[in-house]
Amino acid sequence: MIAILKRGTTPEQTEHLIQWLKHMDLDVHVSEGKEFTILGLVGDTTRVDMELLNSLEIVENVRRVSEPFKQANRKFHPNDSVISCANVKIGGGNFAMIAGPCSVESEKQIVDVATSVKAYGADILRGGAFKPRTSPYAFQGLKDAGIQMLLKAKEATGLPIITEIMNVRSLDLFEDVDIIQVGARNMQNFDLLQELGKTKKPILLKRGLANTLQELLMSAEYIMSEGNENIILCERGIRTYENYTRNTLDLSAIPVLHELTHLPVVVDPSHATGRASLVPSMAVAAAAAGADGIMVEVHNNPSCALCDGAQSLTPDQFKTLNQQVQKVREVLR
Ligand code: PEP
Ligand code: MN
Repeated sequence: MIAILKRGTTPEQTEHLIQWLKHMDLDVHVSEGKEFTILGLVGDTTRVDMELLNSLEIVENVRRVSEPFKQANRKFHPNDSVISCANVKIGGGNFAMIAGPCSVESEKQIVDVATSVKAYGADILRGGAFKPRTSPYAFQGLKDAGIQMLLKAKEATGLPIITEIMNVRSLDLFEDVDIIQVGARNMQNFDLLQELGKTKKPILLKRGLANTLQELLMSAEYIMSEGNENIILCERGIRTYENYTRNTLDLSAIPVLHELTHLPVVVDPSHATGRASLVPSMAVAAAAAGADGIMVEVHNNPSCALCDGAQSLTPDQFKTLNQQVQKVREVLR
C-alpha cells in the first residue's frame, strides 16, 4: 500500500503519521519526490483502514500496490534510483560502461585489460574471480588471489571494480570491491540475497537463465527487504529454443523494467549472444532501448582466454563499440 501526502505537509506531520503506521507493525519507506512525498507501507496492510487513512488532512491519496514486489516498485518511488559506486553513478540519466575479461587470469592480464578499457572509455572494470562453470573440470577462477589482482588493477587505473560472489562464506573478501555481482545462476539463492541485503554495497543482480522479470524483481526485493537499496538489475539473455546464439537477448526487458521499477537496468550483450561479432550491435540496441549501462567482456587475447573467449572483444573492438554506444546516447539526448 502507498500513501501519497499532500503538497505542503510538514516534516512533523509526516513523522507523526509514520509513527502511527509503525504502531500497526508496518515498515514505512519514505520517498521524497520533487512534488510529493510517498509513504510505502510494507507488512500486513490488511489492518490498515484505507478510508480512515485517506480521510486524513495531509493525505492526498491511498492505493494498494497489487504487484508482490513493493520496495522495488516504481509506484513506491516514482523517481529513478541513482546508484553510486566510487565516482560513478548509474541510473536516472547516468550511463555506465562496464568492461573487462570474463575471468581474472593473472595480475598482468587484468592490469593490461584495465588500462586499455579505461583508455577507451570504460567507467568500471569487470573480472570474475569466482567462476560459476557448468563443468566442475573447467577453470573455476583464481578466487581470493583473483580479487587481490582486481584490487591491483583498481589501484593502477582508478577504475571501480565489479566481481561475482558465489557464496555467503566469501563475503569478507569483497570488502574493497565496489559492486558485488550476483550471477544468473544465483539469482534465486535467497540466503545469499538476504546476506547481501545486510550490507550497503551496490549489487548487480543478473536475471536467471529462465526467470521472468517479476521473479527478477522479487529477488531484488529479497535484498531490499533487508535494507540494501543499492541494486542494479542486469538483463543477460534468457534460454529459448534458439541455439545459434548462447541465449536470447530480451531487449524488451529494458522498457518493461523501467515501467515496473525505479532500479537501473544494465545489459550484458556478451553472455546474451555468446559471439563477439554480435556484441556491438546488441550493445547499441540496448543503449537505444534506454539501458542505464552496458557490461561487456573484453580480453587482450580472446583466442587464449581461459573462459568465454568466443564472446570477448579485443580492446580495439571495445573502443569502436563504446564510440557507437555514445553516439546513440547523444541522439537520444
Ligand atoms: C559473468 O558475468 O561472468 C557471468 C558468469 O554471467 P552470467 O551469470 O550472466 O552467466
Ligand atoms: Mn563470461
